[in-house]
Amino acid sequence: MQNSEIKTTCSYCGVGCGIIVTNDSKNGVTVTGDKNHPVNKGMLCSKGMNLHYVVNDTSDRILYPEMRWSKSHPMERVSWDTALERAAAVFTSIIKKHGPDSVGFYISGQCLTEEYYLVNKLVKGFLKTNNIDTNSRLCMSSAVVGYKKTFGEDAVPIAYDDIELADTFLITGANPAWCHPILFRRIEQHKEKNPKVKIIVIDPRKTDSALNADLHLQIIPGTDIILYHALAKRLIEQGYADTDFIKNHTENFKLYKDLVLASSLEKASKLCGIPVNDIKLAADIIGKAKGFLSLWAMGLNQSAIGVDKNTALLNLSLLTGQVGKPGSGPFSLTGQPNAMGGREVGGMANLLAVHKELNNPVHRKEVADFWGVEDISEKPGLTATEMFDALESGKMKAIWVICTNPLVSLPDSRRVEKALSNAKFVVVQEISHNADTSKFADLLLPAAGWLEKEGTMTNSERRISYLPKGINAPGEALPDVEILTRFAKKMNFSGFNFNTTEDIYKEYCLMTKNTSIDISFLNYNRLKNEGTFQWPVPDYGHPGTPRLFTDKKFYTPSQKAIFNLPTAIENTSEQPSNQFPFILTTGRIRDQWHTMTKTGKVSRLMTHIPSPMLEINPIDAYKAAIKSGDIVVVTSKNGTVRVKAKVSDSIREGVLFLPMHWGKQLENDLNRTNNLTNTVVDPTSKEPDFKFTTVSVAKYVKP
Ligand code: SF4
Repeated sequence: MQNSEIKTTCSYCGVGCGIIVTNDSKNGVTVTGDKNHPVNKGMLCSKGMNLHYVVNDTSDRILYPEMRWSKSHPMERVSWDTALERAAAVFTSIIKKHGPDSVGFYISGQCLTEEYYLVNKLVKGFLKTNNIDTNSRLCMSSAVVGYKKTFGEDAVPIAYDDIELADTFLITGANPAWCHPILFRRIEQHKEKNPKVKIIVIDPRKTDSALNADLHLQIIPGTDIILYHALAKRLIEQGYADTDFIKNHTENFKLYKDLVLASSLEKASKLCGIPVNDIKLAADIIGKAKGFLSLWAMGLNQSAIGVDKNTALLNLSLLTGQVGKPGSGPFSLTGQPNAMGGREVGGMANLLAVHKELNNPVHRKEVADFWGVEDISEKPGLTATEMFDALESGKMKAIWVICTNPLVSLPDSRRVEKALSNAKFVVVQEISHNADTSKFADLLLPAAGWLEKEGTMTNSERRISYLPKGINAPGEALPDVEILTRFAKKMNFSGFNFNTTEDIYKEYCLMTKNTSIDISFLNYNRLKNEGTFQWPVPDYGHPGTPRLFTDKKFYTPSQKAIFNLPTAIENTSEQPSNQFPFILTTGRIRDQWHTMTKTGKVSRLMTHIPSPMLEINPIDAYKAAIKSGDIVVVTSKNGTVRVKAKVSDSIREGVLFLPMHWGKQLENDLNRTNNLTNTVVDPTSKEPDFKFTTVSVAKYVKP
């Protein structure tokens, strides 16, 4: 370790807690919460406080490049030069024969901003395809589109410090008590000091967040928009609409008003499974709020109508004028540590860096000129699920996977398996042999992990932090930026003569000049010496911007926010049938992270919930003669899962829950939840519909 003690940021969720790392010869790396950090003020959740176990245990690490010369050859150790020369030769040959869109990159919200920027420059600027997408597509792409449609740009308006200034929280489609624990702890502490603070939770499950709420609306999955419209109707009828704000700072209110006033609370109550009085009570709490924060995550985003759900929720903030004021605003929670940084640098198939749009020819030219390339392809890139469809059908021939495990995390795992088997060439750039996807690699590249490389990340509140290198990576593992830069040089691309990671950051910061995310006055020195900054930071003395839209000027052409009407009010997912009568919803548990490649090796974290369990309501369990602990078989039209049942009244009748994490090659893959999930995506955001798959369930009978 270069310093005896360094300050960095947690590598798990988008909360972005500050961590102090120490290293000594006796204990190795240890971590504590940074008391002076504005996000967590010394607190860490179970995952963060056990991060050092992941760092100290290198037994699963990929230590050197491995390659096979053909599908029938075994993997063998090779040098970095051989590995990257082969990658360059295969990509060149495939592109020459089949065109640039025959290759693609699938990356991760855990990549640092410099990595995200560099790989997007490489793919969009030099490989001449827009086939680069990220696993953040699975978590927040519906929120991105929702913000753009409402505010004109992908801009989260709030700061975490708004938590302590709010008096009403609407948590919908999220379980922050488990998935964003430090933010939820801040809400709890605020409520402990201010008992009048109200928390409303909308969720089909009695989660830990719901159990701490003043009001839990246990909604039938998929009916969120109906409920938001019923709340809006009540708000308008009770005189809670902020007419000045609506008149001066929004568009399209009349159509929205007509739509929601035509709805019926009684009908909404029936469709959503929530008593009318609870809908009225929720609306009255929101209407009386001085500071109203809505928080949401995958429960809204991962849906066939995820964008519509987002805009319908955002409308409630516009209706009540609760944007750009202390303690108010809509607040999407990002799942991954740098999902926000990825958005900034255009880390998705349909985006360009600094919030420019791929489908805008002026933006394409600006970015191409900045990178010194002739042009950027106007053809939209394939999104996460589309890329694997293209591999399966043979349209795409090669994929480069960085820091993510699609075999476990994408919907319909069997299809992903087929896609990877069908690919001519699979590169997996990873830290760990634990990632199931790596068994499909033709080329396995060892990457440096957290603390083993430097770079920056942006958390859910637009806060940028610098993460220093503290220890050396094991074996021959290299920082991702170095792997990508070396590959670009093997491809003879200009524009990759970066000597340091900071050089990449400088180039990106320059690109942000005079944009909505201007950080052209930021650099590593300032981040190291002055701490974190929330973008934009539009001049040298600027302290950063905690809250957006304080001037009520939005990024739309009229500078007004827009009330959007949904294209569909009711869920468009396949509905339950006689064959598949249950709705399966999937999600996270408290102590695991994604596909468990890191948290799965920490024994302390495995004690909370050691194996996947199917949550089933007592009435459904009784009808199917299922008891807690029984092995059950869950079946959808895509596949099967075999797990233990947990009978619990925390879930609605007709709904089942499975955690999404497990996927190791155990029991013939029968504990892998995504064997079941459907392949439907939101038509605009292309985010998968993980929260609504129809399934059947039966007690397992040994053959
Ligand atoms: Fe890490 Fe998120 Fe936990 Fe904070 S809340 S310690 S960022 S996992």
